[in-house]
Amino acid sequence: MSNNTPENVLESTLQGTLQNIRIVMVHTSHTGNMGAAARAMKVMGLTDLALVNPKSTPDDQAVAMSSNATDILHSATIVDNLKDAISDCQLVVGTSARQDRTLAWDIQDSRSCGELIAKHASTNKAKVAILFGRESSGLTNEELALCQHLVHIPTNPDYSSLNIASAVQILAYECRLAALALATTSATKENSKEEDEWVTADDLDGYFEHLKKVMIDINFIDPKNPRYLIPRLRRLYARSGISRSEMNILRGMLTAIQKQK
Ligand code: SAH
Repeated sequence: MSNNTPENVLESTLQGTLQNIRIVMVHTSHTGNMGAAARAMKVMGLTDLALVNPKSTPDDQAVAMSSNATDILHSATIVDNLKDAISDCQLVVGTSARQDRTLAWDIQDSRSCGELIAKHASTNKAKVAILFGRESSGLTNEELALCQHLVHIPTNPDYSSLNIASAVQILAYECRLAALALATTSATKENSKEEDEWVTADDLDGYFEHLKKVMIDINFIDPKNPRYLIPRLRRLYARSGISRSEMNILRGMLTAIQKQK
């Protein structure tokens, strides 16, 4: 039996994208947060965790909070400095609990950033790092200087700081959602092949000629006074867009009507 079911193809495309996304936790203090972040990653299909200069390495508390995402914790890369964690990444995104970090930054929200990240990780097959800062003080300006984009999860301005693992959860979710949309679009394109291309302007002209002829034949249109019916129908069809297989159905219906006459 073939394993190439549409669901399997979708899942493997999705995994291919998500494995290019690395969560980088910079100088995290609480090991429980590392475990909770590992869990947040695993439920969304992310696997690549890097810990930069953590206050201590993952311990029992981390394992307890990971709730069986221990594989992510145990395979986490532990490095001394941030540059080593991102050296193979083409895109580096920093996260900030504050929106007004510096005016020099074009701060993105988590949704559009998830889309940007998924696009890089899938279409360009680029490695992407998302950096999360210290629980107490976030990322330093030197660390932010290594990022191409800065993302802020829209939160209450008067109480804007999420627990770091919750922030990981939201960004991992946005990445999965965007990657899923991309994988679904490419799977749909793959399945539909020629059948579902858009029809050309020529095809549409041919269709409307056919439609007009049938409408006249059945006395729905008076050829001496057609009253903009076809231009109005053209607008209606233009609004929805017609694929080749849909056009074949419409043409088939017109031919069936003609046969009844
Ligand atoms: N007092 C720190 C808060 C750090 S919270 C500060 O003002 O920067 C720890 C980390 O969680 C942050 O560095 C960031 O990586 C992440 N985080 C928390 N809230 C966030 C938010 N609203 N948007 C994006 N990231 C957030």
